[in-house]
Amino acid sequence: MDAADDEVVMEELRQLVCPRDPETIYHRQHQLGSGASGTVFIAKDLTSNATVAIKDIDMDKQPKKALILTEIKVMRKLRHPNLVNFLEAYLLDAHLWVVMELLDGGPLTDVVTETIMKEGQIAAVCLKTLEGIHYLHANKVIHRDIKSDNVLLGKDGSVKVTDFGFCANIMENEKRQTMVGTPYWMAPEVVNRQQYDHKVDIWSLGIMAIEMVEGEPPYLKETPLRALYLIASTGKPSIPSWDKLSTDFQDFLNRCLCVRSEERADTTELLGHPFLRCATSTTTLRPLIEAAQRILDKRITLCK
Ligand code: ATP
Ligand code: MG
Repeated sequence: MDAADDEVVMEELRQLVCPRDPETIYHRQHQLGSGASGTVFIAKDLTSNATVAIKDIDMDKQPKKALILTEIKVMRKLRHPNLVNFLEAYLLDAHLWVVMELLDGGPLTDVVTETIMKEGQIAAVCLKTLEGIHYLHANKVIHRDIKSDNVLLGKDGSVKVTDFGFCANIMENEKRQTMVGTPYWMAPEVVNRQQYDHKVDIWSLGIMAIEMVEGEPPYLKETPLRALYLIASTGKPSIPSWDKLSTDFQDFLNRCLCVRSEERADTTELLGHPFLRCATSTTTLRPLIEAAQRILDKRITLCK
């Protein structure tokens, strides 16, 4: 992409955003974290007093401006209880402010690494995540980066999928070939650079279910390159706690982790899967979220 293409993207972005000055609408509070594209902070809406999350993206520092534009375009037209909903976007000089719903319970990663989840709770998270993914797929969008870091929780137990930066719009039956996503969660057909479709999200959901059992995805202790090799050569990964899982859960994992994507389940099949019948209310996640936050806060204090 050259400078002229960049300017086209920026112009399209300017057309898309709300023309008002965001600093007169929101009061910026503390930072929540930072990622590849920018930092996320909590802010208060000065009119309604509601708190929101705002991602501040310095467009001058973005090598792939078109990707950001895609993220905004995808987010603004989609609305679902299990997606982190987009509220508004603004441009402040070269900084893009993306205002979204605030999820105050942290990422699912904190819960999987710090607590032990019961099958009913795992089923609940799978069900809500699947409802979000089902809606994306119905709108011809592949997420391509489903993992516990991209499932955010509310303190009330709500479960929402975020990070549409890698989203790809798919036409009916169209297949894609670019390698994107995070190695450990990647489906074999992505690793092998074969054509792929919406079924990659189902494989990644299966890997995320393993995270909820084992605390981490398969091969996490290996380098990303070796993990890619192992995904391509092993097929369905082995799961240390396999024998402790119910047969319904085992079957659910088998349906997600089919190496051949044509044989792998889709969201419609999984939403009717017997395993999800054991899902408890998402409010049962609350104690886990609180425990994870306590443990992680304590660790931050000890590090100081
Ligand atoms: P990547 O750049 O790969 O997406 P990342 O997810 O860590 O990496 P961001 O998406 O910028 O980076 O998010 C930064 C931090 O802010 C993360 O810890 C994320 O969990 C948190 N976060 C993002 N969006 C929200 C939100 N809507 N509510 C609450 N926390 C959020
Ligand atoms: Mg993110």
